[in-house]
Amino acid sequence: MEQDPGFIAAVEEAKKGLAEGGVPIGAALVSKDGKILGRGHNMRVQKGSAVLHAEMAALEDSGRLPGSAYEGATMYTTLSPCDMCTGACILYNVKRVVIGENKNFVGGEEYLLSRGREVVVLDNEECKEFMGAFIKEKPELWNEDIAV
Ligand SMILES: [Zn+2]
Repeated sequence: MEQDPGFIAAVEEAKKGLAEGGVPIGAALVSKDGKILGRGHNMRVQKGSAVLHAEMAALEDSGRLPGSAYEGATMYTTLSPCDMCTGACILYNVKRVVIGENKNFVGGEEYLLSRGREVVVLDNEECKEFMGAFIKEKPELWNEDIAV
């Protein structure tokens, strides 16, 4: 699954975010037939946004779609999704959430499971490394991201 184009896109997005001086979290939304519908990274710093977490950016990049477009879709994300992004995945009937890592943060995984979604945690070393380094370097920025 770490070789899935969706996961590779999510990691690329996280790195873009880091290069831009933002929060290094990336995501990609992939349809059931394997097409990347949208991809994006956390844009809170870049856009002064309250809601553009990576998963929200990927949903936004997908544009306005009929409900059927999300059937069987997978959200790939480099970090365990927060409550907002978890809620958005549930709203849009995303079937499966593939998470790069949940050592630096655990979001709404239990809620996803309770709502019948599939959750896969890859425990990816690279994701753990760049997120861990970011939290250490810019703790105030990270705390803002999760409203602490
Ligand atoms: Zn989020």
